[in-house]
Amino acid sequence: MKFILFAACFLVIRISFAQAQKESAEEKYRTEISKISGNSAIKAAFAEIDRLNPQTIGELITLTEIPAPPFMESVRGIKYKQMLEDVGGVKVWIDSIGNVLALRKGKVGNRLVAIDGHLDTVFPEGTDVTVKQRGDTLFAPGIGDNTRGLMVLLTVLRAKEKSQIQTNDDILFVATMGEEGNGDLRGVKYLFENNEVKIDSWISIDSDGTGGISKQGTGSIRYKVTVLGPGGHSWGDFGLVNPHHALGKMINYFSDNAAQFSVVAKTKTSFNVGKIGGGTSVNSIPFESWMEVNMRSEDDESLKKMDSIFNASMQKGLEEYNSNRKTSPALTVKIDQIGFRPSGVTSTETSLVQRSTASIQSFGIKPTLFIMSGNANWPISKGIPAVTLGWGGKSDKAHSLDEWWLDDKGTDAIKLALLTLISEAGFIK
Ligand SMILES: [Zn+2]
Repeated sequence: MKFILFAACFLVIRISFAQAQKESAEEKYRTEISKISGNSAIKAAFAEIDRLNPQTIGELITLTEIPAPPFMESVRGIKYKQMLEDVGGVKVWIDSIGNVLALRKGKVGNRLVAIDGHLDTVFPEGTDVTVKQRGDTLFAPGIGDNTRGLMVLLTVLRAKEKSQIQTNDDILFVATMGEEGNGDLRGVKYLFENNEVKIDSWISIDSDGTGGISKQGTGSIRYKVTVLGPGGHSWGDFGLVNPHHALGKMINYFSDNAAQFSVVAKTKTSFNVGKIGGGTSVNSIPFESWMEVNMRSEDDESLKKMDSIFNASMQKGLEEYNSNRKTSPALTVKIDQIGFRPSGVTSTETSLVQRSTASIQSFGIKPTLFIMSGNANWPISKGIPAVTLGWGGKSDKAHSLDEWWLDDKGTDAIKLALLTLISEAGFIK
């Protein structure tokens, strides 16, 4: 079955909790979080997070300057593995797809709570990833998304170990491969498709700021479409089938029909032809013409409909072109699915959503709900509770060369990640 999705791990919609959801966690969970926050071990961990802050920022720079282009994130992974090992107290390994994992055993160990940040960036090989400081602001591609997420995980682990916090459940710290773009969530997919670990609850640290919570993933489907013909000389072989001309017709049908559907779809549903290529010279009839297409929706039904519009448009455009041709052979088309992310929602009632919300509130911050597409999509689609939380501080321009991050109360996000993680894993002391 051809199916969908892509994901810049980026926020699609932000809605005030007050408008769309309960503004607050249930009292039971607020009480639980308040009790845990008051514990001396947690207070010690918070103090440790503050004390570690210069190191956290120093190592954010170190990691950011290790390039992690799509499908080439292993070098950063090896460095991160060493950082985890240096903390001690955890079993650290790299799985066969390249995810870096650190397992901290709990006292009972019946459940496993995972917290993740992704290793890869969207930036191609050769991108200058040197961190430049102007005033208090750090500029570098990938410094926020998601190198800062990786540092949140590491500092949570360090503070937890230093203050000897114990939990009932096992905790897994994961630096994942291939979250971005054509990586197509391959790290998280591997974790859930293989039986090396069995995860019961998932926390992604992969959005800007502090106080945001995503419990819903937008679904997406991506395709690469390649139209193929014999190719030839634009003058000498004039009359031969032309893949570019056919692809233009196919795009035209898709763009018109998809635009009509997007305004009546049940939830926001988008489509985009993002890349087009092929051809050798202006006076050659190309032997191929290709494009990459992305469709997204907040609900699966709309995504499936958009997908069927896409496939029908490809077929119709090509058939129409071929039926009008003057020569043989006809053009053919190859449609490869290059990405699929299912949509889904973690129920507000789950302890994970409640504890995340209560943890945010415990810092006097009003939780902000957003919908995104990222690693959490995969566990959500499997019915496993998952949320995405912020990496803290201020940041902007993710996925651009001008990306920046500023340490404005950055430690709050680390503390609330720790609080959410520890409470979800069954805090003992
Ligand atoms: Zn990300």
